[in-house]
Amino acid sequence: YDILTGLPNRMLALDRLKLALAQAQRENSLVGVMFLDLDNFKHINDTMGHDAGDNLLIEAARRISSSLRGTSTVARLGGDEFLVVLPGLQGADSTTQVAERILQTFASPFHIGNQEVFVTTSIGIAIYPTDSDNSGTLLQHADAAMYQAKSKGKSAYERFSPEMKEVSHERLQLESRMRRALELNEFELYFQPIIQTATGTLTGAEALLRWNNPSMGMVMPDKFIPLAEETGLIIPIGEWVLEQACAAAVRWQQATGLALGISVNVSPRQFRDPGFVDAVLRALRNTGLDPRRLELEITERLILDNTIETSDILSRLDEEGVRLSVDDFGTGYSALSYLKSYPFDTLKIDKSFVRDVMREQEDASLVKAIINMAHSLGLKVIAEGVEEEDQTHFLKAHGCDYSQGYFYSRPAPEEEFAVWLKT
Ligand code: C2E
Ligand code: CA
Ligand code: CA
Ligand code: CA
Repeated sequence: YDILTGLPNRMLALDRLKLALAQAQRENSLVGVMFLDLDNFKHINDTMGHDAGDNLLIEAARRISSSLRGTSTVARLGGDEFLVVLPGLQGADSTTQVAERILQTFASPFHIGNQEVFVTTSIGIAIYPTDSDNSGTLLQHADAAMYQAKSKGKSAYERFSPEMKEVSHERLQLESRMRRALELNEFELYFQPIIQTATGTLTGAEALLRWNNPSMGMVMPDKFIPLAEETGLIIPIGEWVLEQACAAAVRWQQATGLALGISVNVSPRQFRDPGFVDAVLRALRNTGLDPRRLELEITERLILDNTIETSDILSRLDEEGVRLSVDDFGTGYSALSYLKSYPFDTLKIDKSFVRDVMREQEDASLVKAIINMAHSLGLKVIAEGVEEEDQTHFLKAHGCDYSQGYFYSRPAPEEEFAVWLKT
């Protein structure tokens, strides 16, 4: 049995599953298998501590158990993963009913210490013998369905279907290729100019990651960053990006004398990694870049988990002189109060507002309001996604400090970006 929750452990669960399958075969009934994974356990465990994490797991185990009837088994597989076995079913419908009951029990907040937190779970379902007639594959299929439920936005359940096998196979393949990509030197940084809106001069660049894989071709970040986040690979990859980006800025200065800024994207997992601040400082030290020329872009969503750690990390970076910007500003449906308490230097207006600034009155008003608000708080503003000349006039007229977008240049490999240095 599992020490923390008192539930059957993985081994016992597999034994019970095998028994259930044998019985179902004799009786000609079905067995439902549900794979559950808590959606935000890791975050709570990291930010509120292990005791909080343990309490959360115990309470989750209690809620799952309370949703089941007599003959079912719920087991803890490890971490925040649970398995439910529903033996002797007559139809597949009863598994979805159980899944709905479980989601329902997660709808009320968990009381952890003196805080209330909402915890959700994603559930994958596979049914014997329809989805597989052996226990190992049945579990894999329930796992694949769980991933599907998670990627559909969490707090949901999904029944296995054969296409999911391909999806989970692709995921595994992507993951194993990504694990090797660093040593095989398949990553490359592209650079996109950041322009001073008033004068049209180059002031810096944003580093954007590309992955050149021999069998997949050029892979864009939206395709692999989420998986890199999930698997933790973003940490070594992010360190590589920091080091390469700082080194590039130093090279440009040596070649031309221009002290350009370099902006680097930081993802949530990377930001919360205990080694993050050290990794930033190491990259600066190894390359000799002045910290004031490095700007870390942090998404508004990340900042919204307003925890002590977040503010601690931001202040440490600020004290070192590193610049901080809020990326995708305006998409985090946030209270704006964080802007006055955190040491940000820059807001990057999300491209979804900039796109229609010449066509939609609301977007124009929003962009103007963001610029004014930022300036009154002493922050600089970058407009991203500038594609048309008209937009540059609008931004100039309303005092937007910097602009970035296809109108000036697409992100380009370093050799191409270097052309900008000569102008
Ligand atoms: P982001 O930080 O919002 O980066 C801007 C994205 O907008 C880039 O997409 C860029 O190519 C694109 N873009 C630039 N100008 C325009 C324009 O005028 N119009 C339009 N429609 N798009 C424009 P990209 O390079 O595909 O990157 C996507 C996202 O991936 C980035 O969004 C960022 O969140 C993430 N990312 C990229 N590189 C890294 C990295 O090194 N580390 C991490 N953690 N995330 C990264
Ligand atoms: Ca989880
Ligand atoms: Ca960015
Ligand atoms: Ca952005």
